[in-house]
Amino acid sequence: MMMHEPLQFTGLRGTLARDAPLARYTSWRAGGRADALFVPAGRDDLAAFMRQLPPHEPLTVLGLGSNTLVRDGGVRGSVVVLHDPGAALAIADGLVYADAGVACPKLARFAALHDCADAEFLAGIPGTVGGALAMNAGCYGGETWRFVARVEVVQRDGRFEVRTPADYAIGYRSVLRRDGAAPDGVFTAAWFRFPPGVARQARARIKELLAKRIATQPLGLPNAGSVFRNPDGDHAARLIEACELKGFTIGGASVSEKQANFIVNAAGRASAADIEALITHVRKTVRERTGIDLEPEVRIIGERRHE
Ligand SMILES: Cc1cc2nc3c(=O)[nH]c(=O)nc-3n(C[C@H](O)[C@H](O)[C@H](O)COP(=O)(O)OP(=O)(O)OC[C@H]3O[C@@H](n4cnc5c(N)ncnc54)[C@H](O)[C@@H]3O)c2cc1C
Repeated sequence: MMMHEPLQFTGLRGTLARDAPLARYTSWRAGGRADALFVPAGRDDLAAFMRQLPPHEPLTVLGLGSNTLVRDGGVRGSVVVLHDPGAALAIADGLVYADAGVACPKLARFAALHDCADAEFLAGIPGTVGGALAMNAGCYGGETWRFVARVEVVQRDGRFEVRTPADYAIGYRSVLRRDGAAPDGVFTAAWFRFPPGVARQARARIKELLAKRIATQPLGLPNAGSVFRNPDGDHAARLIEACELKGFTIGGASVSEKQANFIVNAAGRASAADIEALITHVRKTVRERTGIDLEPEVRIIGERRHE
């Protein structure tokens, strides 16, 4: 293997670590290490970091890692983690402003407190605002981009740009540039326009949605939410259950008994290879028995471990 000099950076606030384990930054609590891991103190530090990266250095973004499987061989290049418990939320000109590092449940509570309606669905999405923008996260009839007025993006050269939904092609769990390319840059903030509501009612709705989630999802065990996208007119969970795959286990990874479209790392000992093998097995079984090819919703990154 070729050895590279560690990259040098100047004037950054935040934490920078070499050969850093990523399992703790993903909700599956599995997977390998990053060559370099940077948690910026703020958006300007992220921009400064990106500006100083050599052009060939791969860059990966993580929010709360709640939709990501990191393979056991880890991620080459630099990983930035944007989740930040101190990230900013504000009301400005009738819009709700959120830094990309804000956790979605926090945004839901903030919006409710400020008499906004329809943000309640975000309370059940355990990711960041940046992740919700990248995924067009949604549930219970709500979808992130339906409420976006504009977003801020930082480019690889450290330049910030403001964009509107018209700059993107938005679909079910899909956000692309208008020309069909993957979105460039890193989301650093968003301004949301939620309809007016009543704080008390919004808080009650959040409580109701969370109770529903606790009843139907294995929230006590490491998981990454829905593994597969729902195919047109059907539900991935229904198909997986119909194929009698609930409880099916490979190594430390199992199809959840509670929600068939979730894979759980019940004892915390699953490797990413176990999880990926189970994803492949479920996909193959459902395809063979029903003719439907389930498409993964989770993003799989990094390299396989070479034994
Ligand atoms: C218990 C549970 C329930 C869930 N329920 C739902 C649900 O109801 N609906 C739903 O849609 N999802 C759900 N999810 C999945 C997940 O929470 C969402 O996809 C969420 O939006 C991911 O956010 P994240 O910050 O964790 O993203 P990560 O997993 O960290 O990243 C996901 C993708 O977004 C990219 N990304 C992250 N931040 C940025 C950024 N700032 N700029 C550019 N790209 C970025 C990453 O590179 C990666 O490709 C659930 C997950 C769990 C564990």
